[in-house]
Amino acid sequence: MTVTAEPRQIYLDNNATTSCALDVVAEMLPFFTEQYGNPSSIHAIGAGVAPSIHTARQRLQALLGAAHDTEIVFTSGGTESDTTAILSALRSLPERREIITSAVEHHAVLSVCEYLAKNEGYTVHVIPVDNQGRLDVKAYEKVLSDKVALVSIMWANNETGTIFPVETLAQMAKAFGILVHTDAVQAVGKIPMRLSNSAIDMLSLSGHKIHGPKGIGALYLKRGVKFRPLFRGGHQERGRRAGTENTAGIVGLGKAAEIAQSGMIDENTRVRNLRDRLERELVARIPNAIITGDPEQRLPNTTTIAFEFVEGEAILMMLSRAGIAASSGSACTSGSLEPSHVMRAMDIPFTAAHGATRFSLSRVNTDADIDRVIEVLPGIIDRLRAMSPYWSAAGAPAAFQPAYS
Ligand SMILES: *Cc1c(COP(=O)(O)O)cnc(C)c1O
Repeated sequence: MTVTAEPRQIYLDNNATTSCALDVVAEMLPFFTEQYGNPSSIHAIGAGVAPSIHTARQRLQALLGAAHDTEIVFTSGGTESDTTAILSALRSLPERREIITSAVEHHAVLSVCEYLAKNEGYTVHVIPVDNQGRLDVKAYEKVLSDKVALVSIMWANNETGTIFPVETLAQMAKAFGILVHTDAVQAVGKIPMRLSNSAIDMLSLSGHKIHGPKGIGALYLKRGVKFRPLFRGGHQERGRRAGTENTAGIVGLGKAAEIAQSGMIDENTRVRNLRDRLERELVARIPNAIITGDPEQRLPNTTTIAFEFVEGEAILMMLSRAGIAASSGSACTSGSLEPSHVMRAMDIPFTAAHGATRFSLSRVNTDADIDRVIEVLPGIIDRLRAMSPYWSAAGAPAAFQPAYS
């Protein structure tokens, strides 16, 4: 195999995944070699692994501010935690046939809810958001009742970074005996949490979103909350998640949690400043650029900017050629480029939603990364707009001329 030197890549897609921290990898390595034992075994080779798993559990407990380390159940990632939480709640309260969720959830939640509505007859209340991505709390309040088994509403949105008032929502749901789950995959490590004083029953997190390894995550499960496991078999995780432990992954997730906790201040100062500068400079240099999401309640690392009259996919390709990795709000649906469900839920104008581009930073980004984006992106948008039928040669939106009617 030949390895050619690549120009340094600037990675601004940390909400999709992050690089695994070297300290995390270093802690994991022995669990592939000398410490290969099965922690359920009686002999020393197996039993020797158990303390490391215990340490990882405590590190996650600390990051979440949970009351007990036994409230942490290791899973294969955010998707498994989401599915486990949702199905567990429904099976724990079988007489209740309604679910409340939001219009901007990750597909790991939305698809499960859609499936349950379609195939199991559940009524799913999908709470809308306004054009800044803020949840319609009045609409939420209206559908709360003792017919609802589960509220599953994310802590922070992966596309816009908008933070929902999950604690308030959870307290409102408690009055009706509803089980409350939050997908906190994007919030963990970026927002301080104290679950010991919280009305939240279940919370999902994922290793690879916090500079840990892929294929490992956790479900926080408050002590005393009714639970039905998704996987049955072995007694691992106190019978809550059968299957031989992903020991290296668990150790890696624990280390990533520890680093995230100590790096939270950096995330909320330096990383936030980088993000704010990127936004400020791009909006100053590029006309018709709309910053999406809640201007106040937003993750420090995330910005999605909708560039009007250009295709997000084209922006990403040209950025990629310049060595910059970002992502678009669009998902490719059956060959046609559809704006994402998040942009649609926010009612971002069609001409802008198509140009939505997400930059998600992390603690590995530098000032130089941001300088480079500010340097190349205005030219890219100019070139793409020059080819757009909706953008006049004068450098402004052309009179809107639908190509078809
Ligand atoms: C990435 C992500 C997930 C899925 O997590 P995996 O560990 O990749 O399964 C779920 N929810 C949100 C908000 C995410 O960003």
